[in-house]
Amino acid sequence: MTVKNSAVVVGGGIVGLQAAWHLARLGQSVTVLDQFDVPNQWAGSGDHLRVFRLTYGKDAFYTEMALRALPLWLELNAAAEQPLLQQHGVLELAAKEGGPEAHSLAALKARRVAFERLDPAKVRRLYPMYNPRAFRWALFHPDGGLLWASRAVAATASIAQRKGVRVRSHVKVTQLLKDKSGLRAVKDASGRVWEAERFLFAGGFWTGELLKGFGLPIRVTKQEQLFLRPLLNRGRYRPEHFPVFSSLSQGFYGFPLHIHGFIKIADHRKGPRVLKPDLDSLRDLSPKFEKSCRRFLKRVIPELAAFSEFEGHVGWYDNTPDGDFILDKLPGLANAYVAAGFSGHGFKFAPLMGKSMAELMVGGRCELNLHRFRLSRF
Ligand SMILES: Cc1cc2nc3c(=O)[nH]c(=O)nc-3n(C[C@H](O)[C@H](O)[C@H](O)COP(=O)(O)OP(=O)(O)OC[C@H]3O[C@@H](n4cnc5c(N)ncnc54)[C@H](O)[C@@H]3O)c2cc1C
Repeated sequence: MTVKNSAVVVGGGIVGLQAAWHLARLGQSVTVLDQFDVPNQWAGSGDHLRVFRLTYGKDAFYTEMALRALPLWLELNAAAEQPLLQQHGVLELAAKEGGPEAHSLAALKARRVAFERLDPAKVRRLYPMYNPRAFRWALFHPDGGLLWASRAVAATASIAQRKGVRVRSHVKVTQLLKDKSGLRAVKDASGRVWEAERFLFAGGFWTGELLKGFGLPIRVTKQEQLFLRPLLNRGRYRPEHFPVFSSLSQGFYGFPLHIHGFIKIADHRKGPRVLKPDLDSLRDLSPKFEKSCRRFLKRVIPELAAFSEFEGHVGWYDNTPDGDFILDKLPGLANAYVAAGFSGHGFKFAPLMGKSMAELMVGGRCELNLHRFRLSRF
């Protein structure tokens, strides 16, 4: 059986769905194919929480992109039934003067974005759970916050469907069918052929395997996350009282209490490389990671360190060698595009990525300059 569309998007994560929605807004008839449910728990977007921050140290290009993504998130907030972005701010604990937080502060200041520079005593007054001796100073920016990840995926799918996008789950794309003019169709594991005028591959950490003939330089790493229930003072870990925090020097970041009464903490530094992610290990938590979380908390938020109720959640980053994304046409195929390699920090930009890819696919160019994300840089 052959199904015809003007655009097929392979991958129903946040990036693929955002692109599908924008393609539909540009008048395309779109089908999204996903090998699992939409959302699903293994995908990069399939988790509870993601950080939204405007701060990228010296790399102000990402600050600019986050500023452009922000109104798009707010538009989605207005269209969705529940909030997707909650702006209770982000608190960044700096280990020294002149480090990445100082560059972030300068980038915010130059763009007239609200921020506060806090000394440890002030942090302690506002957020009494912190050990003021564990950092030199802190940067707070109120426009940052948290994104409800799988909720945002579900909301985007439903907004896109209202615009006519067809979302087909349990369709695993296994083959690309090319002809002289480019990519004619993709074939799924059951033999169905999906034809289209244009294609987008947004397969998250599976993209390397999905596009294996193209040799994309995507390395997958395993990232552990820990969800813990505070023993004491639970009320003061609610989002209004305890913003998302990060300690870049130690790698850790964390979130306020989420709906089930747990706090999530994780380490942004790259975990071990994996050649084939073991999807059955989703709830695994290594004793080593648990120990490193306790060590970090003991120093920075001591009252959380003695947690007894906790669980693990594994995620996988799709890393590029330089940490920049891949947003480009596929070599040799005039009508096929890829959006991947988000290297553990793509969620916050997804509405902008989706919009840009849709513009590029339909009009041949987009408002955002994608030069930095081209494949030929490798
Ligand atoms: C632990 C962790 C923490 C993170 N923290 C942050 C953060 O705080 N802030 C931030 O901005 N970003 C963060 N990120 C990054 C962000 O979550 C990801 O960049 C983003 O969710 C990726 O979305 P995606 O749509 O590209 O991929 P995914 O969400 O992985 O979606 C890809 C989809 O493609 C489907 N697929 C794959 N292959 C096929 C196939 N052959 N056929 C059909 N379907 C297929 C998959 O089933 C999947 O649903 C984090 C990532 C992880 C893993």
